[in-house]
Amino acid sequence: MATRTLESRFERMSVTDENDPGDGGKTFLKSKQTSTAVTSSQLAQNSGRANLLKIALQNQNTTSTIITVPSQAAQWRASTAGSRTSEEAARIDRKSNQIYQQPVVKQFHLGMFEIGRPLGKGKFGRVYLARERSSGFVCALKVLMKNEIQQGKVEKQVRREIEIQSNLRHPNVLQLYGHFHDSSRIFLILEFAGKGELYKHLRKENRFPEWKAAQYIAQMAAALKYLHKKHVMHRDIKPENILVGIHGELKISDFGWSVHAPNNRRNTMCGTLDYLPPEMIKPGAQDNYYTEKVDLWSLGVLTYEFLVGEAPFEDTPVMTQRRIARGEMTVPNFVSPEAKDLIRRLLVLDPEKRIPLEQVQKHPWIIKHCVKGERASMRDSKSTGNKFSSASTDLG
Ligand code: AMP
Repeated sequence: MATRTLESRFERMSVTDENDPGDGGKTFLKSKQTSTAVTSSQLAQNSGRANLLKIALQNQNTTSTIITVPSQAAQWRASTAGSRTSEEAARIDRKSNQIYQQPVVKQFHLGMFEIGRPLGKGKFGRVYLARERSSGFVCALKVLMKNEIQQGKVEKQVRREIEIQSNLRHPNVLQLYGHFHDSSRIFLILEFAGKGELYKHLRKENRFPEWKAAQYIAQMAAALKYLHKKHVMHRDIKPENILVGIHGELKISDFGWSVHAPNNRRNTMCGTLDYLPPEMIKPGAQDNYYTEKVDLWSLGVLTYEFLVGEAPFEDTPVMTQRRIARGEMTVPNFVSPEAKDLIRRLLVLDPEKRIPLEQVQKHPWIIKHCVKGERASMRDSKSTGNKFSSASTDLG
């Protein structure tokens, strides 16, 4: 089916936070004509999530998806209990047990999803809001065109992205629940990040207040710690690759690309070298030379950009490279001494001397703004009137 045909099937859908008091708990508005408002309880979003997660988990160990569904025999057994003879019951039991022991192999396919509004467009495809029909589970469906992937010679990266991301489970890592394909497209079933791109939030706000930057960095540190423990280095941490969940929590996305991508990906794609660590721009640097410490440098650049509104080495491409290689940057005076200290401990030329993630999590700047179990944004909004809500940060 051509993309055009797919698009022509779109109905207008919008999703809001089920905890948002503003819309009375209506989570889903579907189609202009019917204008049906469905409440969150009707949608049973949580059970939908559990189901899809179950599918995703099962999908990890199999090439095709296995879903164990209640068999007709089992359903019939339940509905006729009490009226059957013991012989009948034993026969049905034997039969239904057999059925239970043979999981039904079920593949994901496009028909299982109701497609909603476009969420964005990437280099190799588009992303749409979607809802799995049987469970009501809301997700993002990323549609990659096979011919574009072939032409761009990124088959390996896509495979890698799928392999890596489907094995990751962390609140600050965008989850990939599953995937399927048809003759012309690959579909990735992704967690829906309700507040979109972090990059857009940053551009809109110009720079983040310290409490928000600290909470974001704490979340990034927790996610990176998890990734590094799993021997995954992201290598492309920057605001463009971070999404924001419905509760304001950060979600690292775009895996696989960075792991196998050439070290100047941002250069080729976006025309900037800003987030590259010195060991990646060194002449003669080889792909296997880097360690997960590259992500610590990028975390330092991210901290700086959150607080200042621009990256620390922003300049002409030649000058940016030169300044990164020398670690030449100045932190403006409006940045607090604690935040400055963390930036300086992350932006260290020698990868081995960068502050480890465990210490980032315990850094005084982080501790000051992230009290476990409390929403620092609420503390802050009491004193400054700032209404922006943010997720409380678990430093664990
Ligand atoms: P990508 O191809 O991954 O770069 O995605 C293109 C754009 O689609 C992003 O910049 C986001 O605006 C949007 N997008 C991608 N994935 C999601 C998601 N899981 N939830 C919400 N928006 C998304």
